[in-house]
Amino acid sequence: VGKARKEQYERLKIFSVKDLIFHFPKRYEDCTRAKSLKCVEDGEKVVVVAQVLEKRAINFFKRKNIFKILAKDEENTKLEITYFNNIYIYNSLKVGKTYIFYGIVNVYGLVFKMTNLLILKNFGVIAKYSLTKGLGENILKNNIKQAVSLIKKDYNSLPKHLEKKYKLIDFKTAIILIHFPQNVAQYKIARKRLVFEELLCWQIGLLKLKKNEQKTLHFLKTANMEPFLKELPFNLTESQKKVVLECVADCKRTTPMNRLVQGDVGSGKTVVAVVLAYLFAAENMGVALMAPTDILARQHYKTFSYFLEKFKIKVGLFVGGLKEKEKKLILERIKNGEIDVVIGTHSLFYDRVVFKNLSLIITDEQHRFGVKQREKFLNKGDAAHVLVMSATPIPRTLALIFYGDLDISTINELPPGRVLVKTFFVTEKQRLKVLKFVEEHIKKKHQAYFVCPAVEKGQRLVANVFDYAKMLERVFSKYCVGVIHGKMEAKEKNSIMEKFSKGEIDVLVATTVIEVGVDVSNACVIVIENAEMFGLAQLHQLRGRVGRSSLESFCFLISNDLSKENVSRMRALCETNDGFEVARKDFSLRGPGDLFGQEQHGKIKFKIANLKRDFNCAKVCRKEAEQILLKDYELNSSENSSIKRNVNEFFSQEVNVL
Ligand code: ADP
Ligand code: MG
Repeated sequence: VGKARKEQYERLKIFSVKDLIFHFPKRYEDCTRAKSLKCVEDGEKVVVVAQVLEKRAINFFKRKNIFKILAKDEENTKLEITYFNNIYIYNSLKVGKTYIFYGIVNVYGLVFKMTNLLILKNFGVIAKYSLTKGLGENILKNNIKQAVSLIKKDYNSLPKHLEKKYKLIDFKTAIILIHFPQNVAQYKIARKRLVFEELLCWQIGLLKLKKNEQKTLHFLKTANMEPFLKELPFNLTESQKKVVLECVADCKRTTPMNRLVQGDVGSGKTVVAVVLAYLFAAENMGVALMAPTDILARQHYKTFSYFLEKFKIKVGLFVGGLKEKEKKLILERIKNGEIDVVIGTHSLFYDRVVFKNLSLIITDEQHRFGVKQREKFLNKGDAAHVLVMSATPIPRTLALIFYGDLDISTINELPPGRVLVKTFFVTEKQRLKVLKFVEEHIKKKHQAYFVCPAVEKGQRLVANVFDYAKMLERVFSKYCVGVIHGKMEAKEKNSIMEKFSKGEIDVLVATTVIEVGVDVSNACVIVIENAEMFGLAQLHQLRGRVGRSSLESFCFLISNDLSKENVSRMRALCETNDGFEVARKDFSLRGPGDLFGQEQHGKIKFKIANLKRDFNCAKVCRKEAEQILLKDYELNSSENSSIKRNVNEFFSQEVNVL
């Protein structure tokens, strides 16, 4: 292609013939069947087979040309077709001949009209692509056809035995059919093949990452945690102990740990991380913790300082909101090893952060590294141990697939004395009652959260933080109402959180910025507006902001959506406080995608697979991936050569988690 076209393609992130082949349609329109006009509803997009009866052109001011065509379908229902400015189509339509028209039909009583519709050569499925200015559907499709013709017929991207076992069509046919299916069945078999290949490569890649046999010099030698445990104001739960020991065992080895710790909200994951940080710092090895938000980083900074400074371990905070001068100072102290434990956000990724002897990297709460980022961070501390703490507890079978590159430890009990959060599903009508209930609690100096889906008034009719706060200020005029949301400056957010955790704010109106990790144990009521807008796992996460001490705690889910689906979701939350159980229900109701939010937080970008839809396939691929690696770990055999290339490509994509 020429220069201009090249630029257009680049806008679509297409840089090679291969990219073009993998530029899959974003959706399809089913034009496999014609409809009789009599059965068409106004505004419906349909295929109509009709014979042209008359045609005439109307000229306006020479330029504006309107072309009118009268046609009839097979049941003699008349159809008026209008084209604007398309003399080419007008001329090509011959009176007396029958065509397949495709477009929106408008029904005016007994008159049927269509405007600027398409004329199809045959029935079929029309692929719709992402396009860009200057690059229309026809050009794109022609180029794709050319590109596809370059694929060798016998090109093999999957081992033959897998194609056979799972009844998958060959690669070239799959590519042809995904772009140019004639019917839905063809599209389905094409998709099946391509999804399988993609998920298989994904699983193989994850498994290979896990087996990374790098050597590390940063292993724990003594790992004596007694001094730390003696000072701890509580005893670790059995589960916490077990998980700590699993991590310690990993960290005593000369290959880096890659472990995920999952546990329900409030199960005490943080202190597990603190113990490990203690052990590393005690042996003079550096630790970095990365949190997803400023708020959490600051909270962890406090917690870690509180637990560690009595052992003369220096904890430092490095977040975006710091002043340039402060940053410089802290960077210097990180570099020369004055700080043992650095807590931060993504800012820790910046190149100018240089660590001394970085040996343990902890990432907190649903924040997983993209592979590239992991590499980048790992390069900062050569072959450091990695501990990932996940906010969303998920059943083991799911975890194996999603966290295929990590070993998994699970905290499966809560600290003693916790009371269950009593959860209620109510409609707006009962809001006043809920507010009265909340007032009873803030009178007793307890605190409450109110969560709204939106920050400010928008198009959708959902509760927004601004208006809601105004309303609460009237209702709770004697108390202090605070507001926090993602659009606020970091500094402002911090000062609000600070005030809330000190008890200076009684009621906090928030968006889901408080969703993960926030730990204010005096808060005992959370009210969630438009609860139908959130996923179950997310609601559970929000609910986890209360019930963080022995204080009796409550969660109100307010929603007017009384559809069967929503009611069963809300009921699921009212019935259980167990995050694993919630995840299981969420999964059975909505599939795995929702457990991880959109696109798993940008971690993986699949070209065609959709984890929600293709979860069973992912399970199968997991097993096959294990088998393949068992026989040919380096993927050096000829039947695995394409897989090897694909895995490398798949895992080299730069994914953005920021
Ligand atoms: P999460 O797993 O949700 O991150 P946190 O680590 O924030 O939970 O812990 C929740 C609260 O429980 C914190 O205030 C923490 O100090 C407390 N906690 C953790 N472990 C124990 C324990 N074994 N006994 C009593 N309290 C604990
Ligand atoms: Mg936490």
